Amino acid sequence: STEQRIEDERTSSVLLLAAGVAHELGNPLNSLNIHLQLIDRKLKKLAAPAAAVDSLSDSIGICRDEVRRLDGIINNFLEALRPRAPDLTEIHLLEVLDEVLHFQQNELADRKIEVEVEASGELPVIMADRNQLKQVFFNVIKNAMEAMEPGGHLRLKARSDDESVYLLFGDTGVGIKQEDLLRLFEPYHTTKPGGSGLGLMIVQRIMREHGGQVGVESKAKVGTVVTLEFPRKDRRVRMLGS
Ligand code: ADP
Ligand code: MG
Repeated sequence: STEQRIEDERTSSVLLLAAGVAHELGNPLNSLNIHLQLIDRKLKKLAAPAAAVDSLSDSIGICRDEVRRLDGIINNFLEALRPRAPDLTEIHLLEVLDEVLHFQQNELADRKIEVEVEASGELPVIMADRNQLKQVFFNVIKNAMEAMEPGGHLRLKARSDDESVYLLFGDTGVGIKQEDLLRLFEPYHTTKPGGSGLGLMIVQRIMREHGGQVGVESKAKVGTVVTLEFPRKDRRVRMLGS
C-alpha cells in the first residue's frame, strides 16, 4: 500500500542518516579516548596528594569505559545496518530451524520452555541465505524465550500455499501492548532492561531482502505469534523477473 511504502521510505532515509551520524562519531570518540589516556598519564606525574590523583584517575577510567561503550553501540548499529546481498541457495526451512533450535537448546532447557514443531505436509524448498535465515530464527526464538515464564510453550508451525511458505512462531509469553505493536521494528525500540531493540529491525530487513515479510500478532498477557512469509522458489523467479 502507499501508506506502507511511505513508511518504508521514511524509515530507510532516517536509517541512512543515522548510519552517517554513527560513522561520523567514530573520529571524535577516538580523539576523546587518546586525550583521556594522556590526561591520565600526566595526572600521575603531578605533584598532588595521592588521594586526589586516585579519585581523578577513577573518574578518567569511568570516562574511558563509557567511550568504549559508545564505540561498541556504534559498531553494533553499523554492523546491523550494513546491507549484504543474500547468498541464495536451496533451503529446507525445517532443517535450518532444527539447527537453530539445537544451538539454543541449553537456553530453552534452562528456561524450562517446551518446543513443539508442527508441519503440515511436505514443505517446498525456498531460495535463501542460510546464515541470514539463522539470524532471523535466532532473533525470533530469543524474543519468544525472553517473553515467557518457565513452563512456557513455543509452538512452531510450517505450512505453504501456492504463493508462499510460512513459518509461525507462537509463544505463551507476556504479549505486546497495542501501542508497542506499531513500534516493534524501529531500531532501539525495546521494553527490556539492557535490550538492544535491533533484533526485529534486522529480522525485517533480512525478510525483505528475501522478497518475504514478517508479521506479528499479539495479545497482552496471552502470547505472540510471529509469522515469517517466504516466496516459493518457483514464484520468486517470476516475482523478481516481473
Ligand atoms: P530486544 O529484544 O533487544 O528488546 P527486538 O527488536 O528483538 O529488541 O524486540 C523489540 C521489542 O519487541 C522487545 O523489547 C519486546 O517488547 C517486543 N517483542 C518482540 N518479540 C516479542 C515476543 N515474542 N513477545 C513479547 N514481546 C516481544
Ligand atoms: Mg530481541
